[in-house]
Amino acid sequence: MKSPIINADNLNVHYGSIHAIKGISFQVNEGEVVSLIGANGAGKTTTLRAISGLVPSSGKLYFQDQDLSKVPIFKRVELGIAQSPEGRGVFAQMSVQENLEMGAYSRKDKAGIKKDYEMCLELFPRLKERLWQMAGTMSGGEQQMLAISRALMSKPKILLLDEPSLGLAPLIVAQIFEIVKKLNQEGMTILLVEQNARMALKISHRAYVLETGKIVMQDSAANLLNNDEVRKSYLGI
Ligand code: ATP
Repeated sequence: MKSPIINADNLNVHYGSIHAIKGISFQVNEGEVVSLIGANGAGKTTTLRAISGLVPSSGKLYFQDQDLSKVPIFKRVELGIAQSPEGRGVFAQMSVQENLEMGAYSRKDKAGIKKDYEMCLELFPRLKERLWQMAGTMSGGEQQMLAISRALMSKPKILLLDEPSLGLAPLIVAQIFEIVKKLNQEGMTILLVEQNARMALKISHRAYVLETGKIVMQDSAANLLNNDEVRKSYLGI
């Protein structure tokens, strides 16, 4: 049995009076792709933000054996948690190369940084062609590729991917999912949030279904793809 990289127990997040995450418990094990699926507002993004430290949470949250409750965002990046945010959030006024360099800001191993930089350009040849283009002028798909690459430049142990397909043409979505699958095959652990539940389940080992801040179902991705309720509510079948 693989050891958990993320272990959450009775995790809660409040935004003022809004109780967005209501005591959820979940694990992401080493080498897995785990998806969080659910309708708009179910709490998927908030769960990722709690792990990366962008919102305060209560309850137990462990990275490997380390309690994250008092670990600030930048330390979580150093530990190996990287988030590729919804809406991509690239630095619009910086070039592709500068965005990638920013992703490695917490690292000092120059040789390792260079290796990962080359790995990202190999993974996304489109970025290699556009190293000096301002990120803000790139297409949505290209910005998504850059956001994933920037997250990879921190050499994460877990990649938190928020809505990588949002607003992209089907062909680009397919390419991005292929690359996510490939990253996992090469050993990357991934927690994926996706509206496109079918695509997400197809590349996931397991998934959790969130509804208004609670986990209402959890199973292998294969079982969820065949589950009548999931098919009706989330796969449009
Ligand atoms: P979507 O797919 O629409 O992004 P989601 O499942 O990712 O949805 P969250 O963005 O995590 O859902 O939102 C969960 C709940 O928390 C929603 O009710 C949302 O309105 C609320 N919420 C999220 N961010 C904030 C915030 N900064 N302030 C107040 N409420 C928030």
